[in-house]
Amino acid sequence: MPNHLFALMRDRMPADDRTFIETPAAEKPGSSSRVMTYGDAVALSSRMANLLIQRGVQPGDRVAVQLEKSAEAIVLYLACLRAGAVYLPLNTAYTLAELDYFLGDAEPRVVVCAPSAREALEPLARSKGVAAVETLGIDGTGSLMDGAAACGTGFTDVERGPDDLAAILYTSGTTGRSKGAMLSHDNLASNALTLARSWRFSPDDVLLHALPIFHTHGLFVATNVTLMAGSSLIFVSRFDADTMLRLMPRATVMMGVPTFYVRLLQHPGLTRDAVSHMRLFVSGSAPLLAETHDAWAERTGHRILERYGMTETNMNTSNPYDGERIAGTVGPALPGIAIRVTDPDSGRPLPGGEIGMIEVKGPNVFKGYWRMPEKTAAEFRPDGFFITGDLGKIDGSGYVHIVGRGKDLVITGGYNVYPKEVEVEIDALPGVVESAVIGVSHPDFGEGVTALVVRKPGADIDERGILQALEGRLAKYKQPKRVLFVDELPRNTMGKVQKNLLRDANKDLYA
Ligand code: ATP
Ligand code: MG
Repeated sequence: MPNHLFALMRDRMPADDRTFIETPAAEKPGSSSRVMTYGDAVALSSRMANLLIQRGVQPGDRVAVQLEKSAEAIVLYLACLRAGAVYLPLNTAYTLAELDYFLGDAEPRVVVCAPSAREALEPLARSKGVAAVETLGIDGTGSLMDGAAACGTGFTDVERGPDDLAAILYTSGTTGRSKGAMLSHDNLASNALTLARSWRFSPDDVLLHALPIFHTHGLFVATNVTLMAGSSLIFVSRFDADTMLRLMPRATVMMGVPTFYVRLLQHPGLTRDAVSHMRLFVSGSAPLLAETHDAWAERTGHRILERYGMTETNMNTSNPYDGERIAGTVGPALPGIAIRVTDPDSGRPLPGGEIGMIEVKGPNVFKGYWRMPEKTAAEFRPDGFFITGDLGKIDGSGYVHIVGRGKDLVITGGYNVYPKEVEVEIDALPGVVESAVIGVSHPDFGEGVTALVVRKPGADIDERGILQALEGRLAKYKQPKRVLFVDELPRNTMGKVQKNLLRDANKDLYA
């Protein structure tokens, strides 16, 4: 039995001298661009895997990393796979107090952090039983690299089967405390192969990558698909419209969160010429407004391909590469994956077109939450479907429409209101940039539908105007009780609107 995931990647690797990851020069004097070839990645991952084993890593041990984005950090992921370890990336924004929870929960054997973080992190790691703390800087320096340099490039991959764990990835924490999703070799392998095929990845592709690498989108979707197709990546440390437009003539694919598209649309440099080398734009992690999709198509001639996934499941649905990409939908289930919509309470499957809980089953679905057997049991139906927590419907063509998260559903006077229904109406009004609709505790209605609206600069629109405009458009119970204006919606690094913050900030509105 070989190493399931890495063997599949290795079989598909192009010649050693082909670029795996290019890190372009930062726009500061003296910096130069760096290239990690596939040959380099195999050799360095062998050395790192040897070092991990020297540090006592046994099959199934966790290796926790909190690292800024670099090619070497991705090679460390490969080294973990090869050494039979479980890769456990952590958000770079987590503070020491937050790391206390994650390290205590995950009990890693080895922790890898930035050189500057070592002093503060080491005592905490030791107190959690971590055997070794290594460092890795964005410039490819650090104790991990020194240790790896002293190891050989010969390494026999540790055998791992399809059901062995490859990674524990913590969810974004949008609805509560992050949970560790246990992902097996085949959860990752099956999804990467499916996506590479569905999105027609080839060794000629160059993926312009500005996402963080501690989240499923930038880590697994982008990187695993690249590896499964032998394509290459251009790594940009963080999104910046100027940098993206400068690099686009050398890329063929971009994967982004909706915010990337919104920001690029605000840039005068976004033209048909600027994207003439590109073949595909993918969006996910948060809903892409139909308006953004349409504006993009008009400006660039490209229809953004929106897909839907989550930490626990990798990708579930995708608009088609060849067929029609429909704005405001996330497309049909990917091959080999079953999606259904059920009554949230009874779990009874609902007929097409009805809104309910989105459930998913397939080789992509995780093995459960790390050390949370009860939570895991509660999120699966007896027939193996995973309850995503997202509400939506499946239309007559099999396309999935997401209407929001179950936790964001507003129940007012006993009626269900799906925030998206109201948001779509508000967003369509002149002078509105975007909106978020939440439920706020209300003495008469249980919850009051409440809208937070971002206005266009100089827009002549007020609460009364919005409420009047919605009158003929939405049933009375769906109309907001209040409309409040905000400068912007709070978003996390993945561009997700943090409705819990909005609910907290407005909790006494109707008190
Ligand atoms: P937590 O589970 O900790 O509350 P989270 O659900 O935001 O956080 P992720 O796994 O990063 O953590 O995000 C998955 C969620 O992102 C999905 O359940 C869905 O709500 C949302 N999502 C992803 N892609 C899309 C999309 N294309 N359209 C709408 N929502 C999306
Ligand atoms: Mg979630």
